[in-house]
Amino acid sequence: VTRLVLVLGDQLTPTLSALREGDRGRDLVVMAEVADEAGYVPHHPKKIALIFAAMRKFADELRDEGWQVAYTRLDDPENGGSIPSELLRRAEEAGASEVLVTTPGEWRLIDALKHTPLKTRFHADDRFICSGQEFRDWAEGRKALRMEYFYREMRRKTGLLMDGDKPEGGEWNYDSENRKPPPEGIERQRVMHFTPDETVEEVLDLVEDRFGDNFGTLRPFWFATERGQARRACSQFMREALPKFGDYQDAMMRGEHFLYHAVISLYMNLGLLDPLEVCRDAETEYREGRAPLNAVEGFIRQILGWREYVRGIYFLEGRDYTARNGLGHKRALPPLYWGAETRMRCLSEAVGQTRDEAYAHHIQRLMVTGNFALLAGVDPAEVHEWYLAVYADAYEWVEAPNTVGMSQFADGGVIASKPYVSSGNYINKMSDYCKGCDYVVSRKTGEGACPFNLLYWHFLDRHRDRFEGNPRMAQMYRTFDRMDADRRETVLKEAGAFLKRMDAGEVV
Ligand code: FAD
Repeated sequence: VTRLVLVLGDQLTPTLSALREGDRGRDLVVMAEVADEAGYVPHHPKKIALIFAAMRKFADELRDEGWQVAYTRLDDPENGGSIPSELLRRAEEAGASEVLVTTPGEWRLIDALKHTPLKTRFHADDRFICSGQEFRDWAEGRKALRMEYFYREMRRKTGLLMDGDKPEGGEWNYDSENRKPPPEGIERQRVMHFTPDETVEEVLDLVEDRFGDNFGTLRPFWFATERGQARRACSQFMREALPKFGDYQDAMMRGEHFLYHAVISLYMNLGLLDPLEVCRDAETEYREGRAPLNAVEGFIRQILGWREYVRGIYFLEGRDYTARNGLGHKRALPPLYWGAETRMRCLSEAVGQTRDEAYAHHIQRLMVTGNFALLAGVDPAEVHEWYLAVYADAYEWVEAPNTVGMSQFADGGVIASKPYVSSGNYINKMSDYCKGCDYVVSRKTGEGACPFNLLYWHFLDRHRDRFEGNPRMAQMYRTFDRMDADRRETVLKEAGAFLKRMDAGEVV
């Protein structure tokens, strides 16, 4: 009898566990572009186009390898609109009652697949360096699940940047040499762009037609949509940008959307690039003397450490994670996140490039858009939906721990030991955004004071009970308490007035 082999849009890997378990002479691969997946949040049009185009090409690749593939396009009249309904339809057509599935990267789909009448066999997604069991074993009995210790385990396990049983160069982490402010005139070679072929053009037309009203610019579309292209983009990064990755990892510059970042999360998360292979390639750059240790260690830590760690946390913490709201934040996400006018230059830059590219690098996400939402007390569920929608690399297993945990501290400190908040000073140090801003970053109160300066103290004041005892935040409270009482009152009053204006829909 025929079985179905389900391949989801972010499972475009020839060695996928469900495909390994399948029999290409007998089983039927099912792939489907469905309204439910394209619409559970208002995804950026570039993200939808990337996924559909890469899916279509992967289906062709599987056919070339001898698989039978039942592929449903979004505009097929028979399209059932969801993954379960498409599975049922294909099962009926093929007379199948069993489905092989690689466990999806989000609870929503796992649960949906568990509730079909078909016999569903889940196979672990082993495209990650750390398995679910390994992560649970590591977490077992630990009071705090800090990434740094997990990362060291992963270094030992893989042998990446190891010198026997010691870390290469003697240290596990070289961040003290990283994260320099950007010098004048910093720029990088263009990230590799790919001209849309016929398949991509066809998808672009479809997306324009169906999702043209979603936030985000569809064209020009330049993403890689197949493995070979993604590999070329990644090698170009290794050659041209990796050596400076560490130095300017946190820098932000107007008009420079990518700096020395790899822009590969969107490809890795789809399954077009293998994370361990990427780490090994980066290590080779170091071993062969083309990139310094601080850059390569920092880069490998993002993938071997952070990426694996957040996945472990997502599955460890369970289904309610995205609903957590540890700080009780209730404010609606301001329209400026969807492109409405703002006088804050850092936010207009970060949101503007997000609209154009479906991309922003980590510090833009964490210290500009994330920082502002946290300081302003925005409901983390709304913040989570925004990040899930607007970035081409956003899937819940990776986005939710970063947003709900790292950025909004809504998980109560599972991921971060203190909230990532800062005043305007940090943004000014790491970027050139403040130069063209309507607000004055050096001004703490009064006309033109930078809203980050006001909201920073407002946040600390609101959450004094929660954070005053945190040794890593004691210094901030001491600084606040040393201000004279009048000044403190002015800061809080002005912050409150700012929030009121924002809530009333004024341009802030
Ligand atoms: P680089 O800076 O070049 O880093 C290399 C790789 O390391 C990335 O491709 C990525 O795979 C990995 N990486 C780096 N930081 C992280 C991290 N914190 N968590 C997981 N992997 C990491 N990343 C996503 O892939 N999808 C998301 O939806 C996502 N949402 C985020 C939301 C918030 C609020 C924050 C603060 C971060 C989020 N990140 C997310 C992490 C990070 O910002 C992106 O992985 C990174 O910006 C991708 O760009 P890049 O490929 O140029 O990365």
